[in-house]
Amino acid sequence: MKAVVSLNSGSSSIKFALFALDGDNPAPALSAGGKIERIGISPRLAIRSAEGAVLHEQAWPDAADLTHAQLLAYLFEWAGGHLGEREVIAIGHRVVHGGTEFASPRLVDPALLERLEALCPLAPLHQPHNLAAIRAIATLRPGLPQVACFDTAFHHDKPTVAARMAIPRHLHDQGIRRYGFHGLSYEYIARRLAELDPALAAGRVVAAHLGNGASLCAMQAGRSVDTTMGFTALDGLMMGTRCGALDPGVVLHMQTQAGMTAAEVEQMLYLQSGLLGVSGISSDMRVLSASAAPEAEEAIDLFAWRAARETGALAATLGGIDGIVFTAGIGENHADVRSRICRRLAWLGIAIDEAANAVNAALMSRPDSRVRLWVIPTDEERMIALHTLATISGRTASAA
Ligand code: ADP
Repeated sequence: MKAVVSLNSGSSSIKFALFALDGDNPAPALSAGGKIERIGISPRLAIRSAEGAVLHEQAWPDAADLTHAQLLAYLFEWAGGHLGEREVIAIGHRVVHGGTEFASPRLVDPALLERLEALCPLAPLHQPHNLAAIRAIATLRPGLPQVACFDTAFHHDKPTVAARMAIPRHLHDQGIRRYGFHGLSYEYIARRLAELDPALAAGRVVAAHLGNGASLCAMQAGRSVDTTMGFTALDGLMMGTRCGALDPGVVLHMQTQAGMTAAEVEQMLYLQSGLLGVSGISSDMRVLSASAAPEAEEAIDLFAWRAARETGALAATLGGIDGIVFTAGIGENHADVRSRICRRLAWLGIAIDEAANAVNAALMSRPDSRVRLWVIPTDEERMIALHTLATISGRTASAA
């Protein structure tokens, strides 16, 4: 009896999932999953079963000095008890950046870690935390195979025209290019869509990952050909606290005219913009929907306008559009936002079935819609587990 672990380690949180593997059923079965939040402030942990029942909760009030490594050790201790006789055979990590080199997951060894370390300047807010978790596990469980799964990899083979920015070409050669992120989510969506609607999956689809972080991916026959995030996860759509695509002149203005430092501008663009910045109320779409303030309505409207506008742009990349898939917190649950986006795109032949949309039905386009509309819950943790199992056995996840 075996198990595999998926880890997504960020600056202040660690998301994880444990999957059980049973001989007669090759598909990993979710056994438990959860999140440690508020690391560096006052950490708390919640673990749930696949059915959503709380299995374990723990809070460390005011334990600002508890490190990621210490919390991972606690988690592994708990996992050992939970899994009982089951042996953890591998651990997969979400690693935000695979640079230009890595188009598929890799088994971690010291040489790989060194190459991934060199990519930290491309994702300074995320990559160091991803790699620190790999090092912590190597100390905690020496010899346990670890697999790095890259958020950029799904977009690796998109056409150069979708990767190049209109800046001096030597910068592109130095790695200043549009990479794209949320790749594990999009890869999972592409797989699920191929099961649910194979004819559509073979066509031109825009997948909309709308969560705190938000992006769109143009998929042609299940492969990424364009995406709204670029060099960093700041580009593209309006997000919870991130601005999305912005006239770079604003950054120059804030620094040269308003006297802000680079660190202050970074803070503003990543943490004080988006839904939070425009509403002045919250980064949480549910809170904004419940608010009567005109600024909340303005923020929701801008979010939908931007998403519709970028969907139109990706339809141009694809040369048309056969389907849209909504996923992540807002995409899976927020009927009003989906409806606003689809109504703005009616000119593309999109006809939303409002009754189906209201109950988050999987297929929510009307029969006469030229574009099929799906809601598909994403599962990045499962994608990581599939990649991890495939990588340790020398296969690719598509064969898993
Ligand atoms: P993250 O990028 O942090 O994983 P999520 O995918 O969880 O984010 O998305 C968070 C967003 O989804 C928030 O804006 C939240 O309001 C929204 N959301 C989550 N659940 C619901 C729901 N049941 N109804 C409406 N919106 C929701």
